[in-house]
Amino acid sequence: MIKIAYFDADVVTPEEIFMAAGFTPMRLLGDPTIEHDKVNEHIPPTHCVWAKNILEQAIRGLNPEINGVVTSHGCDCTNREFDIWVESVDIDFLFYLNVPLKRDKIALNFFLNDLKELISQIESKFKIKIQSEKIKEAIKLTNQIRRLLKKISEYRSKMILKGSEFHELVKLSQTDDKNKVLDILKKKMNELKTKTPFTDKKIKRILLTGSIIDDTDFLKFLEDKGFQVVADDLCIGSRYFWNTIEEEKDPILAIAEYHLSKPLYSTKMPSYDRFEFLKFLAEKYKVDGVINIAMKFCEPMLYDHPYMNKRFKELEIPYLFIEMLYNREQYKQLSTRFEAFAEMI
Ligand code: SF4
Repeated sequence: MIKIAYFDADVVTPEEIFMAAGFTPMRLLGDPTIEHDKVNEHIPPTHCVWAKNILEQAIRGLNPEINGVVTSHGCDCTNREFDIWVESVDIDFLFYLNVPLKRDKIALNFFLNDLKELISQIESKFKIKIQSEKIKEAIKLTNQIRRLLKKISEYRSKMILKGSEFHELVKLSQTDDKNKVLDILKKKMNELKTKTPFTDKKIKRILLTGSIIDDTDFLKFLEDKGFQVVADDLCIGSRYFWNTIEEEKDPILAIAEYHLSKPLYSTKMPSYDRFEFLKFLAEKYKVDGVINIAMKFCEPMLYDHPYMNKRFKELEIPYLFIEMLYNREQYKQLSTRFEAFAEMI
């Protein structure tokens, strides 16, 4: 199976284009169990710990099924890291997708041109033709997955599905064959309809936000501390499935519009608008508190935090901000802060 991987802080990579080309899109995820040995030769110590981890894996050698990597402009770290990938990673096909930070008409046209350039470079590299009809078929499939994920996500709030189990499903959706994923999600949906809610009434309902959180063990750790993630605005979460792509339009235009209209990430403008989606989620899912996790040296999150803190205070919603390293030892070290927050709310 040929895979095209993507390195993306904001899930703005058009998976449907890879699928239409006959490839399986696979999001690159971190591995919190590895040491950062090789990457330190290329990157300063103040670079985002998650982005660094992905480069460490790439320098060591990615899965041999991966025939190409697309880096999508999420933040300045991923942007500048691409230059290092070109020099130090042994991959035949590397493409930098310049996803705009703004969302106006000029930005849309800019993005459309870059998507067309991506298509043209894939066609030329792999000697194939990407048909419009194939992109439309792929859109229908990914939309089905998004709709199912959205329905399944509701079972977190009904206290039937653990946040960690849902997190695994979203990760699977971003890394495995989409037809296989669709079958798994359909089965899960049917299974959930027959289940009853957890009985522990003391569980705290949490809205989880922040940088990328791709280690499911972190959600399990939160569950051990008495939290249930009932809602999130994460890229391994709601931002991946909240909206769907219009199926009747020109597919490239529909993909571009979709990515420029999904819930905002801190790296996009105007970043303050991100709070409005968080407020909506906090109220809709009646959360007891908000946990905002910033990966160490994730500047977009660090800049957002004072504003988030102020706005959640105004709403009288308890808010916890944690900056953490990308390894599991950190969870233990931060344990008391989470325990204190659980007691407080
Ligand atoms: S965690 Fe922050 S700094 Fe790191 S890649 Fe994501 S947005 Fe960029």
